Amino acid sequence: MLNKQIFVSYGEQAKKMTKELLEKIDLKAELKKDDLIALKPNLVNASSSEKGATTDPQIAAALIEYLINKGFEKLIIIEGSWVGADTDNAFLKCGYQELAAKYEIPLYNLQKSSYKQKKVLDMEIEIAEIALKVDYLINLPVLKGHCQTNITCALKNLKGCLSDQEKRRFHRIGLHKSIAYLNKALKQDLIIVDGIYGDLDFEEGGNAVKMNRILAAKDPVLVDSYAAELLGYHISEIPYLQIAAEIGVGNNNLDKAEIIEMNKDQAADINYNSSKIEQLTKKIKAKNACSACYGSLIHALKRLAERGKLKRINQAIYLGQAYQAKEIAGLGIGNCCNQAAEFVKGCPPSAKEIIDFLNDQNM
Ligand code: SF4
Repeated sequence: MLNKQIFVSYGEQAKKMTKELLEKIDLKAELKKDDLIALKPNLVNASSSEKGATTDPQIAAALIEYLINKGFEKLIIIEGSWVGADTDNAFLKCGYQELAAKYEIPLYNLQKSSYKQKKVLDMEIEIAEIALKVDYLINLPVLKGHCQTNITCALKNLKGCLSDQEKRRFHRIGLHKSIAYLNKALKQDLIIVDGIYGDLDFEEGGNAVKMNRILAAKDPVLVDSYAAELLGYHISEIPYLQIAAEIGVGNNNLDKAEIIEMNKDQAADINYNSSKIEQLTKKIKAKNACSACYGSLIHALKRLAERGKLKRINQAIYLGQAYQAKEIAGLGIGNCCNQAAEFVKGCPPSAKEIIDFLNDQNM
């Protein structure tokens, strides 16, 4: 797999999709038989993945089964929840304790680890020793919004490898430089992003948006740049992407990325029962819409609301396969709505593309 590649699988069957991605990228070809391989999910708190905060354990299960079947035996799962949450409880409630018992994989609670100072440029960072010992680190972040950094995905997920004391220091001295430098100190080898459910704007979950996709990539800066646009941000709105690119962690130029979509999403009925999301969706007329398309639109409308532009939209917004080949008096989202007077291309379009389109309308 090349650093410039981002593989995308649409759907909601996490285990099946992850296995297909692993075969496609031929993960085994990157590994040596006696490598110590760590899976690093995002278990920020003890909530199920449908709430939009944590990594679906079926993604980890797919990786473990794949690796065991290919003869790799030295597997561990590492994580430290955010300050104030108990990682052991998160392992239990998020389904990782069950997974660990079933496959006999050790769980490492990084809140209780021994730590080592690692010097990187002009910073010293205290990182869990076990994370530094790993031969091959597989990062399993969630694609979601974040209240301070706008997004959280691959780069920020490594913060779970710090002591609680170091996490607090990162917030004190500023997250952007700290996150970028952490990723210079601790290299991740593969990223499988859980983009099935991810929160609208808060890392703790509670307003999950169904984005129905899993991504596989090697470059954390590139995949996070892609994630930024999926959630409706310009890359410049996530300063750690620029800093990480400058210090050689990866590439933040999406023009150089090769995006490989392995399939298409399927239409599904989506019922959001979050009042925050209902507020955003009043003008949407969805019929047989794919979750991937609907999720992009919700993120786009949220970003417009944050910028005070949502109230300027005075037309209905259509999306879904039921509108294929139908004339629509309103705004169309995605290729299915290409008979609308104005529509944005894509199947699905990203939230950033939808925002650019809506900004161009005389709303
Ligand atoms: S454009 Fe149509 S088919 Fe494509 S993701 Fe959107 S709703 Fe689904």
